[in-house]
Formats: sequence, structure tokens, C-alpha cells
Amino acid sequence: RPTIGVLALQGDVREHVAVLDLCGADPVLVRRPAELAAVDALVLPGGESTTISKLLQVFDLLEPLRKRLRDGMPAFGSCAGMILLADEVLDTRPDARHLSGIDMTVRRNAFGRQVDSFETDLEFAGVDGGPMRAVFIRAPWVERAGDGVEVLARVPGGPAAGRIVAVRQGAVLATSFHPEVTGDHRVHRLFVDLVRDR
Ligand code: GLN
Repeated sequence: RPTIGVLALQGDVREHVAVLDLCGADPVLVRRPAELAAVDALVLPGGESTTISKLLQVFDLLEPLRKRLRDGMPAFGSCAGMILLADEVLDTRPDARHLSGIDMTVRRNAFGRQVDSFETDLEFAGVDGGPMRAVFIRAPWVERAGDGVEVLARVPGGPAAGRIVAVRQGAVLATSFHPEVTGDHRVHRLFVDLVRDR
């Protein structure tokens, strides 16, 4: 079983730990550089990206994490985790720091007030088994995806139709929504498979 860390500074850490365990990985909490150094891959949970950004600096994890991503460590970020993995973020705080794990521009809290939080069924490229239930909670969307970035899912309808909400670049995966809360483990399975393949 691959050892997959869950960044445990803030956010829905436990949900990811539970799903990773069910998907055949050994999840461990990561709060310190030595813990980061010991994992095969890392999940960045949902939560509040500006808070996690601040804590990454306080816990001396920002540079070590950037380095591991540059060296090819697989990572998966949901919601706030997606924001952290971007190399450019719109509508965030000026002092927020990001990891540049994916060549993309993400807009924070992108869905207007009316659809602040919502659920929908969407097509997710590369996973079998039909549409996926996606839960969005004050979610970001991807406003620009670089040439090397594969778009895996878009909002199917409504005012935000067509917006990009799941991407992959190499071994780094990000979703605007929270696959850790729905009981549908296909995204985590995809991630664990990808880690195993490395
Ligand atoms: N709005 C949050 C942020 O900016 C993300 C919300 C979430 O992770 N559910 O970080």
C-alpha cells in the first residue's frame, strides 16, 4: 500500500484519511517537514486556502512542499487544496502563497452568492461508472488551464456551465468539489492508482 500523506494544518482532513484507507492506501497526517519527506504522495484537503497558506509558512512546509512537487511527487487537492496547487490565484488575499503544482489560474470563491454551495452530477473524464455527484462549497473554478493541463470535468449546466472544475497535470490532480464527502471514491481510487504507477 502506498503511504499517502494528508496535509493536516486545517480543513476536512479526516474525511480524506477515511477514503484513502478504503481505497488501499496507508494515510498519514503531515504537519512537519520530516513527515512530508516520508510520504509517497500528498492530499491537500478542503478548508480555507488563505489559512492553510499561512500555516504552511508557520510550519516551515511551504518550500519543502514546493520542492517535492517540482521533483514529481503526486498530489491531489480538493477545493482549498486546488487553490493551493495553482500557480496563480484570483480573488485571494495579497499575502496568500501558492505551490505552483499545476499550470493554471484559479478563481477563489468563484461561484456567485446564489450558488455559493450546490451539488450537481458531472462527467469526469477517465473514470467509469457514469456521472459523478459533485459537492461544491464556496468553491473555486479554473479560469485558465495551461497547455500541459488535462481538463477532467466541467460544470454541466446552470449559470456556471462549462467552467472547469477538475484538472490533472502529470501526477497532480485537483477538483473544485469534495469527492471525500459523497461516498463516491472514484477520484481517490484514480489518485491511489496513479501513485501506485509511479
Ligand atoms: N473558499 C475556500 C477557500 O478560499 C475553499 C472552500 C473549501 O475548501 N470548501 O479556501
